Amino acid sequence: MRISAIFDAFFTPVSGMELPRFAGIPTFMRLPFVDFDHDRISDVDIGLIGAPWDSGTTNRPGPRHGPRQLRDLSTMIRAENGATGVRPFEVANCADLGDVSPNPADLQDSLNRFTDYYTRVRQLGIRPLTAGGDHLCSLPILRGLAAQAPVGMVHFDSHTDLFDGYFGGTKYTHGTPFRRAVEEGLLDPKRVVQIGIRGTAYDHEDRDFAKAVGIRVIAIEEFFARGGTDVMTETREIVGDGATYVSYDIDFVDPAFAPGTGTPEVGGPNSFQAIEVVRGLAGVNIIGADLVEVSPPFDQAGGTAWLGASLMFELLCVMVSAQT
Ligand code: MN
Ligand code: MN
Repeated sequence: MRISAIFDAFFTPVSGMELPRFAGIPTFMRLPFVDFDHDRISDVDIGLIGAPWDSGTTNRPGPRHGPRQLRDLSTMIRAENGATGVRPFEVANCADLGDVSPNPADLQDSLNRFTDYYTRVRQLGIRPLTAGGDHLCSLPILRGLAAQAPVGMVHFDSHTDLFDGYFGGTKYTHGTPFRRAVEEGLLDPKRVVQIGIRGTAYDHEDRDFAKAVGIRVIAIEEFFARGGTDVMTETREIVGDGATYVSYDIDFVDPAFAPGTGTPEVGGPNSFQAIEVVRGLAGVNIIGADLVEVSPPFDQAGGTAWLGASLMFELLCVMVSAQT
């Protein structure tokens, strides 16, 4: 994968020392806006992308408004990771690529639009870091990124999103994306780890499927018994050196810290534990990542979006870490 080691001032975020962080047009992390038509698009290593689409939502809606809110709160991000020392914007050329345009009235058309968009992202050699959107977004992203060979995945969530269908067999919802991705050969199930699973359930159908195909499910009880660091050691062993996608549903985090989401489940990790597991991905061969299910209408104080933006920064830091 491409990483531009040479410092390029064009791709440097606007510093809060030059323009206050509450001022200016809010691109992701105050990066330059570089869409497909821009003359610097071929120099982008990592593209931050908004996916304002929530047509897969089965419960409380709103993640279509996530990208704007995440952009706004992401202006609080500074240049350096205080814990790891990583300065991602000096390692890779990062840019805000804008939003994928969905068709909110046509689910299949939206899936196709997303697939086309992420196919182009892959062909440009850009690794995407996407702000959702509900979790169905991850399916067409994988269709674009894993078109040639199945990939591994590290999935943080309180739900497996492995169900077969909803409401009498509807195959495309935010509870089904990874079932479809396994069926379509986009994911290698033996290199998939799901972490944080909890809550009430309709039945065990999703877990039975995981077991049958070899997906490693780490329920929240095991997570807390072992701790995030130990869980991530096992996770790195399972995904190995191969191409790996990272999908982070904000409802992995306890609703005390992330109430602004459609399907919250109590008894989850706090905001520090939420960040710690991302740091545990350092060294993994990450071909792309997403942060999904932030729902601003349920996020009255903006804290969920702030955690989401912070997690995007942590994801960015581990996306560049394998190359430093
Ligand atoms: Mn999910
Ligand atoms: Mn979830």
